[in-house]
Amino acid sequence: MMRRVLALATLFIALFAAASIVQAATSPASPLEKKIKALTEKLTPELIAIREDIHCHPELGNQLPRTSAIVAEYFRKLGLEVRTGYAQSGVIGILKGGKPGPVVAMRGDMDALPITEETGLPFASKDKTTLDGRETGVMHACGHDIHTTLLLGVAAVLAAVRADLPGTVVFVAQPGEECCDGAKLMIADGAFKDIVPAAFFAYHVDDTLKAGKIGYTSGYKFANVDGFDLEIRSEGCHGADPQLCVDPIVVGAEIVTALQVMVAREFSVHNNTVVTVGSFHAGTAPNIIPRSAKLEATVRNYGEDQRRALREKITRLVTNICEAAGAPFTLDYSFGTLAGYNDPALTAEALATAERVLGSKAALVEQKPEMGGEDFSYYGTIAPAVMFGLGVVPPDLEATAVHSPNFVADEAAIPIGVALMANIIFDHQAKAGRAAAKKVP
Ligand SMILES: [Zn+2]
Ligand SMILES: [Zn+2]
Repeated sequence: MMRRVLALATLFIALFAAASIVQAATSPASPLEKKIKALTEKLTPELIAIREDIHCHPELGNQLPRTSAIVAEYFRKLGLEVRTGYAQSGVIGILKGGKPGPVVAMRGDMDALPITEETGLPFASKDKTTLDGRETGVMHACGHDIHTTLLLGVAAVLAAVRADLPGTVVFVAQPGEECCDGAKLMIADGAFKDIVPAAFFAYHVDDTLKAGKIGYTSGYKFANVDGFDLEIRSEGCHGADPQLCVDPIVVGAEIVTALQVMVAREFSVHNNTVVTVGSFHAGTAPNIIPRSAKLEATVRNYGEDQRRALREKITRLVTNICEAAGAPFTLDYSFGTLAGYNDPALTAEALATAERVLGSKAALVEQKPEMGGEDFSYYGTIAPAVMFGLGVVPPDLEATAVHSPNFVADEAAIPIGVALMANIIFDHQAKAGRAAAKKVP
């Protein structure tokens, strides 16, 4: 009997729990959330047409006259204040809400890649360009056509609810992410000189997640992309008489191996670090010790302390090995793109909105940091920033990698991304607005 009472109690608790889950998953959306959903649905065909047009006409680097003109024109039609000319083709659109609140920014990058598209899509790019004397196709193989479209979509949705919107939203259409310091130049050119966002949001398409999923990482998301060029020199001599000159190949080989030992032995395993010598060129014939060996390496890590420690240790190692061999050398070490850090508090805040808007935690996928780079990181030097991964793998296709000629993104991700970011920004502004109001005496 007692067992039966317990069983009934367990059943009751289970039913109650199930009912709460169903209720949480289907809790009614606020009027604003419903409005954003309806606006997004109405806008979707137009956004898909814009995306396909941008995809069909990709542009490279910081010179994106066509794409930036589309963006500027779209912002103008929405009634945004438009400023142009940052990093050559960068555009910002400023949307002033009807209620007091802080400044927030959303970034979308617009540049494509020198890749010949092989997707066979009806709107595939057929454009060609010449780089270093060689002809190549041009393709939006990193999803920046989607990022640009999301920027326009969120601007359109928030412009439609601007009377209720607290504060100001700056939409940042950035060129040159793939190659040309776009973010750094936008900042250097004064894009945020007199309008300083207190937070930055962005998406990058995620080629590992199905459309409908959102990837997130709290803390470091992308790595510092540093590197060095090294030339080891020698007088050169006959391969049969190696005692007559320094062998720069042997010295270079020793350095390549010693670098791997250094990473494994001089840093904690918890300090994610990669040193890859991806290029090693020397020599012309088997019986000649060449006059030089040239090495190029990429050095990936997180944080300022680690990048400085790596530069110091690599410089020490190269100097000592070359000096031990009596080899003159030139080491050119450079700090490249800054590591991307997702502010944990901003990430958590946005995730709460995402869970509500997407209806469940299951759509949110926690991801490990990557050793790749993304120049969205520079906006994090101005204010807390967070970049989410927007799942774009089509339901019926295997994942195709970004930067591949076969990369295909599911357009179903566009309305998902627009509605979610509009809610994230609105919620953030409302929360920040409330906090600011409380501080007023
Ligand atoms: Zn890319
Ligand atoms: Zn990209």
